[in-house]
Amino acid sequence: MLLLAVLLMAALLPGPLLASTPRLTALNAQANGPLSTLSLTLSEPVTYHVFALANPDRIVIDLPEMQLTSRNLPRDTGLIGTVRTGRPSAGSSRLVIECTEPVTVAATQLRPTQQGRSHILTVSLRSAKSRSDSGLAAVIPPTTTGRYAATGWTAPPPRRPPGEVRSDSLLPVRKVVALDPGHGGHDPGAMTPSGLMEKAITLATARELRRELEAIGGYRVILTRNRDTFIALRDRIAIARKAGADVMVSIHANKLDNPSIRGLSVYTLSENASDAEAAALAESENKADVISHLDLRGATPEVTNILIDLAQRETMNSSSRLASLVVDRVGRDGPLLVRPHRFAGFAVLKAPDVPSILVELGFISNKEDATTLASADGRRKLVRALARGIDAYFARVEMANSR
Ligand SMILES: [Zn+2]
Repeated sequence: MLLLAVLLMAALLPGPLLASTPRLTALNAQANGPLSTLSLTLSEPVTYHVFALANPDRIVIDLPEMQLTSRNLPRDTGLIGTVRTGRPSAGSSRLVIECTEPVTVAATQLRPTQQGRSHILTVSLRSAKSRSDSGLAAVIPPTTTGRYAATGWTAPPPRRPPGEVRSDSLLPVRKVVALDPGHGGHDPGAMTPSGLMEKAITLATARELRRELEAIGGYRVILTRNRDTFIALRDRIAIARKAGADVMVSIHANKLDNPSIRGLSVYTLSENASDAEAAALAESENKADVISHLDLRGATPEVTNILIDLAQRETMNSSSRLASLVVDRVGRDGPLLVRPHRFAGFAVLKAPDVPSILVELGFISNKEDATTLASADGRRKLVRALARGIDAYFARVEMANSR
């Protein structure tokens, strides 16, 4: 009931409350008899324009500016050779299908999915060499009909559009991972009598983790500090948000009086701490700045609070998913603290719109952990497991988006 009321209020609000770039969440290719079909899963119905080009043979699909959240581009399916993405001009996106032979557009269709949460644009191609269309009628899907007829059209006559696409690099969105090496400068963090310092371990680990994620591919990794310098906690969040971070991973190492305690633990924000933070943020002057993907201008204070709360709840769920995947991957082949996923009100976890975790790599007060954390060789296995946990998180996000 509360949710319904919230949705109703959101619908009645003036202005682009949840304005965002439409997303292209999945691309699939299918060969079926004489037809090869490319299916685009879209977050909303959009205007599209499909046309063929020769030398080399290709089909162009022009779309408004889209965010491509799928990392998999189909290839080598029937008449479809490869699929490239590009941005011919500001405010528009383009898919180019390189074909294995001259083709024509047999049909296009835009329809909502069964649940209506996303929309599927299908573009069916057939060989231009086909002598006859007989027998095709049964397999060609119906063309644009019904209430979506107005949103699409086809224009088969080949022509060379201005600004033919050349770049593949503009449309795909790489996930941004903010790594936050704890402490630094005059703040060494935990220390051992032998001189092992937390601030050095966290920075080295962050650099190694960045290399590991870049090796996996599909990630832009930023560090909140890349040298031995002190940075205030709220500035660390600001750096991550400014970079457009999709997640923030704060890296620390722990120390206890009891030398037998060891293993990794991951913290996410506790519910209580976050409620207080949300309230404080809602009361602050720059409300529009609180949640980057919400436009809160024109919203009443009540609605602002509800929307911040909803966004923060979503962020907390994502943070928890990330935490459990990191714990799982590290725990497969490394030591974990008892109850490795813990909750706390750490300041660096309080970005309301960036899923955030704080990783305590281990205890430098424990001999085995200290040995592991003291050298790059010792950290290698741990860093690899951290990267795999982060990668598994984004794989899940992608899967959820393409449903
Ligand atoms: Zn620390």
